[in-house]
Amino acid sequence: MSDNGTDTKAIELPASMTVRQLADSIDSSPIEIIKTLMANGVMANINQMIDFDTAAIVAAEMGYDATLEVIDQVEAGDSGEIPLWRRLIAKEKEEDLVRRPPVVSILGHVDHGKTSLLDSIRQTHVQEGEVGGITQHISAYQITHNDRLITFLDTPGHAAFTAMRSRGAQGADIVILVVAADDGVMPQTREALAHARAAQVPIIVALNKIDKSNANPDYVKQQLSEVGLIPDDWDGDTIVVPVSATEKSGLEDLLEAINLVSDNMDIYANPNGEVLGTVIEAEIDRHRGVLATLLVQNGTLHTGDALVAGTSHGRLRAMFDFNGNAIEEAGPSTPISVMGLNEVPEAGDVFRVVDSDKEARAIIADRLDRQKQQATLAAPAMTLESLFERYQSGEVRELRLIVKADVQGSLEPIISSLEEMKAGDKVGEIGVNVLHADTGNISKDDISLAAASQAIVMGFNVTADVAARKQAEVEGIDIRNYNIIYRLTEDVEKALKGMLEPEERETVIGKAEVRAIFTIRKIGKIAGCRVTDGEVRRNAFMRVIRNDKVIHDAPVSSLKREQEDAREVRQGFECGINVEGFDDFKVGDILQCYIHELVKVE
Ligand code: GDP
Repeated sequence: MSDNGTDTKAIELPASMTVRQLADSIDSSPIEIIKTLMANGVMANINQMIDFDTAAIVAAEMGYDATLEVIDQVEAGDSGEIPLWRRLIAKEKEEDLVRRPPVVSILGHVDHGKTSLLDSIRQTHVQEGEVGGITQHISAYQITHNDRLITFLDTPGHAAFTAMRSRGAQGADIVILVVAADDGVMPQTREALAHARAAQVPIIVALNKIDKSNANPDYVKQQLSEVGLIPDDWDGDTIVVPVSATEKSGLEDLLEAINLVSDNMDIYANPNGEVLGTVIEAEIDRHRGVLATLLVQNGTLHTGDALVAGTSHGRLRAMFDFNGNAIEEAGPSTPISVMGLNEVPEAGDVFRVVDSDKEARAIIADRLDRQKQQATLAAPAMTLESLFERYQSGEVRELRLIVKADVQGSLEPIISSLEEMKAGDKVGEIGVNVLHADTGNISKDDISLAAASQAIVMGFNVTADVAARKQAEVEGIDIRNYNIIYRLTEDVEKALKGMLEPEERETVIGKAEVRAIFTIRKIGKIAGCRVTDGEVRRNAFMRVIRNDKVIHDAPVSSLKREQEDAREVRQGFECGINVEGFDDFKVGDILQCYIHELVKVE
């Protein structure tokens, strides 16, 4: 096979694998792999686990250019804005994809009829089978309409939705926004709308309680138009379906609307691909241990599979459909209840199938490690000041705001000047996105929304409730209070400018001295160093200084401590350092480590 690098083949490899698995993935024999490893100074047997870096070196020798699998990139902390399962499906080959049932979530203001609607659809469209192995109510179900399956997440209220979104694992393809025809658009309607918009999920409005004598559909449609949901019969593109959950009328039209909307969406998955999905809810059952309701989003889950869900794991002892009947396998968009996990995972946790319990434990150890690290990092998740850094890192692409004001009269000018800013070329293409604007004090729900959608909360002549303040502290959400409109808009403008033009400042964080040079085939020369000052980091830059002259200046390409990859190495410790584009280390060279910090433009 070619070793000259000109016709390398691309391949994705997991974060760790056995020698045998590597051999299989790159069409080689385990013996070849073991030989190559030995040539690089690694002694391994056929069942030994090797890490991605090692595997990549071996693969390179065999003519492959290896990248880390998407799923492991995410495990490594690269969570991004797009849910993991969507990213995974995006990587699947087109010919492997098949249509899957749409997953529908019902949101709306309290008492507008979410539960009633879910119950009516269930009663009219689910043929309850014989009572199966478990009798628990599974918080999701599937129905058939015109021979097509639809999956409903039976978790009304947006607590679950918020939790799922904030973990980047939001599962719904379509949101049904329930609005009572006798009550109209209410605060939680707007909030639910903001959630759906932030998640970029299409919305169908169910205009419920149409049977009531005081129902006023035209008035509600007017209100819907005001929040940007222009009904289709008013030449808009939001489907508004009048229904009555109690009289079970309009349900067929609603289901037809779901089919119609999903026709225009890419709702696919690979039933034979990597198995992955989201935990809908979980609890401990005294007799059966942990019972978890899962939504499969890609691949097919089988009983006996080894599973990791959040930080719990186990082999699936039994699996049930939503009617409680034992089943052996479950494909994409199927809600199921499973037994066999060792702990209760959280709603919104991602689950995936792994090859062995050993791999499961390794992933969990890694996740726990990361959780610990994150917990020790100083809080602020979202502040106006930190926005541009997040923008730079690609985490945030717009400035999302939640605005609360004392009266409608002050809300309007604030929104219109913020929206002007969106258009103004002064701030370029980064826009302000007012996710939610309303009158009243800042509530806990506002903070949940901010946390789920990475928004800043701005108050005008209002205060934050005690519960909201506490929640904001926990979530690290920035609440800004103003009593002069132009101060508010000025701050937003400043933040936008900062997002566009952060200044880079360089900070030296440590120094290391080269004590020995090692040569490793394919990687080249590695400098064996001792950190003499501060610390050196993997995500940093390095100046190679010889005789007081800088002879090279480039990013660190690898940092190892006792052959393990390290994020940072502190003063007094030894480490192996490699710098991009440099192969000429000499004993006595000084390596100066620095980082770029982004600084707000005042
Ligand atoms: P949720 O809080 O949104 O889940 O609302 P519920 O489903 O609990 O409904 C709240 C109340 O509205 C209950 O008393 C229901 O019986 C009633 N309700 C729900 N849907 C309808 C409907 O279509 N027509 C009428 N007349 N009442 C309804």
